Amino acid sequence: MFLLQATEATRPTFWRIGPVGKAAFYYLAAVSIAVFLLGSYRRVRSYTQGAADPQDRLADLPGRTVAAARTVLSNRTLRDGDLLAGLAHAFVVWGFLTLLIATTILGIDMDLYRPLTGDSFWVGDFYLSYSLVVDAMGLLFVVGLGVLLYRRYAARDGAGARLWGRHTAREDDLFVWALFFLGVGGYLTEGVRILGQNYPDFETVSFVGWFVALVLESAGMTPGMAVDAYPAVWWAHSILALAFIAAIPLGKPFHMLASAANVVASDDDAGRRLPGVPADLAATNADSLSDFTWKELLDGDACTKCGRCSSACPAKASGRPLDPRDVILDLKSYRESRDAGGEDVPIVADGGTSVVDSETMESCLACMACMDACPVEIEHLTSFTRMNRQLVDQGDVDRSVQDVFQNVMQQGNTFGESARTRADWSDQLDFDVADARETEVEYLWYVGDYPSYDDRNKKVARSLAHIFEHAGVEYGILYDDEVYDGNDIRRIGEEFLYVDQAGTLVESFEDCEFEKIVCTDPHSFNTFENEYPEVDFAEFADDPMVDFDVDDWDGAPVFHWTQVVEDLVSEGRLGLRGDELDYTVTYHDPCHLGRYNDEYEAPRALVEATGCELVEMPRNRADSFCCGGGGGGLWMDFDDDPKPSEERLREAVEDTASAVEKFVVACPMCTTMFEDGRKTGGFEDDLAIVDVAELLIEAVEAGGPAAGGAAGPAGVGSDAMADD
Ligand code: SF4
Ligand code: SF4
Repeated sequence: MFLLQATEATRPTFWRIGPVGKAAFYYLAAVSIAVFLLGSYRRVRSYTQGAADPQDRLADLPGRTVAAARTVLSNRTLRDGDLLAGLAHAFVVWGFLTLLIATTILGIDMDLYRPLTGDSFWVGDFYLSYSLVVDAMGLLFVVGLGVLLYRRYAARDGAGARLWGRHTAREDDLFVWALFFLGVGGYLTEGVRILGQNYPDFETVSFVGWFVALVLESAGMTPGMAVDAYPAVWWAHSILALAFIAAIPLGKPFHMLASAANVVASDDDAGRRLPGVPADLAATNADSLSDFTWKELLDGDACTKCGRCSSACPAKASGRPLDPRDVILDLKSYRESRDAGGEDVPIVADGGTSVVDSETMESCLACMACMDACPVEIEHLTSFTRMNRQLVDQGDVDRSVQDVFQNVMQQGNTFGESARTRADWSDQLDFDVADARETEVEYLWYVGDYPSYDDRNKKVARSLAHIFEHAGVEYGILYDDEVYDGNDIRRIGEEFLYVDQAGTLVESFEDCEFEKIVCTDPHSFNTFENEYPEVDFAEFADDPMVDFDVDDWDGAPVFHWTQVVEDLVSEGRLGLRGDELDYTVTYHDPCHLGRYNDEYEAPRALVEATGCELVEMPRNRADSFCCGGGGGGLWMDFDDDPKPSEERLREAVEDTASAVEKFVVACPMCTTMFEDGRKTGGFEDDLAIVDVAELLIEAVEAGGPAAGGAAGPAGVGSDAMADD
């Protein structure tokens, strides 16, 4: 009996809707689709006003699309750090896509298959399966939206707080409520029909609609009343659906399309590898919206206003005038206002009526926490660097940063010290450091500005020299031919000076015989590894600002020193037993080593090789919290409350599972910032700041004879800690 029913099972598609109603529906559907297409065309046309993107973001489009589909469908990026919101959003996406596909299938049957064949495939087993899947996925859709609505309103002061910001508008509420009423309205329409049709047996597969019918009946609705009410309920649901389709390109709902496109066009190296600029001095950076690439313009429409970037931003947490979400959305609002014929104002300037204020951009630490947190691959740093470059072009640059630029230009280092004294840190060593310009070495050690000139960091440089010496590494340095690597001045917009430094350094690299480069500083490591090989030095050859004679750089294997020494330790070349020290320590992931370059484990392995107990801070690895030194923060004074370094030290002292004696770092800039934060934040009695290299040397000194190291253990490193 059921089998017989099953082969005939279906439902009338325009039940209780007469020919006039049906014609009106098709007319309204055509209008709604036309408005959707026109609005979408305008959005896309607005991106095409942007400049070409230096990356080929559409290469291997099928592969990119499959990868993006995986990301969108799994909602992996949304689940990161907020499982409930991620799952709820996944339910909404899966439910929405199922309903969209189901409606398309029905449309094909009604408007193509039936007119062409006189038959319908929307019957029998197909219809039953279709109804079951649609009801089940629709339920996920409504439940997901219910959770998101709860987070938005009831949990507004807690987990939902980040959703609210300067750009939160009525359209955000309308969007989420419209989806909710579409889901609920679909079930109401189904329930009224099932009740009006007196519960056809096979409709039990539409289990949610069936349940709604029972509820309506128990509330007093009779089948006759359902028959009468059905047209009104159906029209209300249909008009809401058609209005929603028409509204998609007009505001918030467009993020559904733009964010998917943004994920397809994303660049895995964005942020850690900044785009170059043309050598043409007349070229502008962010003088107008047409300077931004189409991807940077698309970023604005892709933003879901979720606020994850703002919650992760250390500059915002310190009370600086920077909210990464607001910057992205300010640019978007300005583009929309220009598209509507609005006033032309400067994109970025010091005060006045610019879209973004110079102080906002100066506040950025280039830590990439915003990009890491963003679920839709918005590349904040690319746009932010563009605006920083514009500020440099306009001369709207902080005084102390200008001084740094001068120092680099005149002396080749950020300290403004003589190049001749660059290697003076090594004078106190009881051995000579090889000159890589004269000796062929395995490792060319790029020491960096801070370990060369800053007294606190010179001790780190000496510790590392001891480690290399002790392990018998063949290494050498560039002495006074070493110049500043340029990573951070590039991030604050001084591109020409960056290219000049990079070209000068590459010239020195090419004059030496070495196999690999090892860096003390993760900032140097980042730019050597990701940026130098991309710079077209030849393009700048005629520029009067540059002073080098290289066309390009083929690159070389580049390492942060912790990666090299991790291998030495595992080969037993430091002679560590693993029980030399017994401190309880925590490790701070530097942004440029961790988030930028995914190296989280080598420093941890070294800390553990000393015997120390490593306790993690709540924000560790990719969630690490910037020390405040990146993006030029090291050279600028802010009225922070608290300073990022103080907040991080507070986390180490108050939020770790056990009392921490040492705060371990692996970046010279972090050392400088945390030594300062330790004093200003009142943490001097709580913990000491040590570099991993210092910890290793202490362990080597505490241990027995080395298992093959070149230097003897007695007294090793005792000169490393000496003050200059
Ligand atoms: S890079 Fe860091 S400091 Fe800059 S906006 Fe992003 S999170 Fe904030
Ligand atoms: S930029 Fe990304 S993380 Fe920030 S609010 Fe927009 S979608 Fe969310």
